[in-house]
Amino acid sequence: MTVVKEKIKARIMAEGPMSVAQYMATCLGDPDGGYYATRDPFGRDGDFITAPEVSQMFGELVGAACASAYQALGEPEQINLVEFGPGRGTLMADLLRVAALRPAFLKSASLHLIETSPHLRKKQQETLAKTPLQPAFLDTFLDVPDGPLIVVANEFFDALPIHQFIKTEHGWHERVIGLNDAGELTFGAGTARMPRSELPAGLAECPLGTIIETQPAANAIAQELGVRLARYGGAVLIVDYGYLKTAPGDTLQALYKHVYDDVLAHPGDADLTAHVNFEALATSAIKGGAKVHPPMTQGDFLLRSGLLERAGTLGAGKTHLEQESIRNEVERLAAPDQMGSLFKVLALTGENCPFPPFDSAD
Ligand code: SAH
Repeated sequence: MTVVKEKIKARIMAEGPMSVAQYMATCLGDPDGGYYATRDPFGRDGDFITAPEVSQMFGELVGAACASAYQALGEPEQINLVEFGPGRGTLMADLLRVAALRPAFLKSASLHLIETSPHLRKKQQETLAKTPLQPAFLDTFLDVPDGPLIVVANEFFDALPIHQFIKTEHGWHERVIGLNDAGELTFGAGTARMPRSELPAGLAECPLGTIIETQPAANAIAQELGVRLARYGGAVLIVDYGYLKTAPGDTLQALYKHVYDDVLAHPGDADLTAHVNFEALATSAIKGGAKVHPPMTQGDFLLRSGLLERAGTLGAGKTHLEQESIRNEVERLAAPDQMGSLFKVLALTGENCPFPPFDSAD
């Protein structure tokens, strides 16, 4: 049994069933055996491959968007460049290569990486060692100093704890994880109820057993981003898999060595994520004071940002084999049946900040 499974069972025995949010937070963040706390899960030998690990073109195009946002902000003399959950640091390294084409941006930027895993912080430090900006590591967004900001987050919000509620004969109850007669982890309906005010419109008539999800941790960050954007100006790019309109459904999933796994089978050893509710994220950012630009799919964002042109330049003078591999990367990132449609890109800014390739928020 894993350390984390043991801890979870002991806690349930002592305190009773735990929420899905507590389960997720423990599996991912437990300092002794949590998924991110103890390993580097990315790449071929890990559990999943993220867009920056698929191709350098992803980080480069995100970097180009950031550089044009810096220009749209009037090239401030001091700007906080922030990344949430930088993984191996690959996206930031690719972004900084492109940012270097606009020397004023690099000169003005201080780099802040929000990362809780000591193991990944070390990896990020190594990846960024040769770049012109040295990172400061922060535990939470609240530690980012005041001032204008440019923020990127790829596959970060899906790792934040969600709550689930299940419709029973007695109303919507929080879905919890307890122990069955054999002492194994099992899902059940807890005693906590969903406040009526939080029930999304149109869901009152759902059949029994329907599950809905809430993401207070993600929404709180989005709202705080909105507050900062309204106060100091800036631009935020959030890329993740998720849905654009609130809808019922159980999106909690476990991935273990590239294969979908039972959510309760390998706590701490499998990656656990939930799809991001972009509507809720946008509503929270607006509440904080941000302008929300109409979201795009990752495929549209990359193609409008010049993915094909970048692929052409990168492939020029290379062997057929290398060109073939660049073509595969383009497919992987942008094709609708691969990452192109499931992944969405949400852009937030302060007032009067055009953010190509997004449409104006006004
Ligand atoms: N952006 C990277 C990695 C995505 S995986 C990429 O695209 O490859 C999620 C990242 O978020 C990991 O670096 C993980 O350690 C970090 N993370 C997860 N939960 C976090 C939290 N609550 N606070 C800060 N970082 C977190």
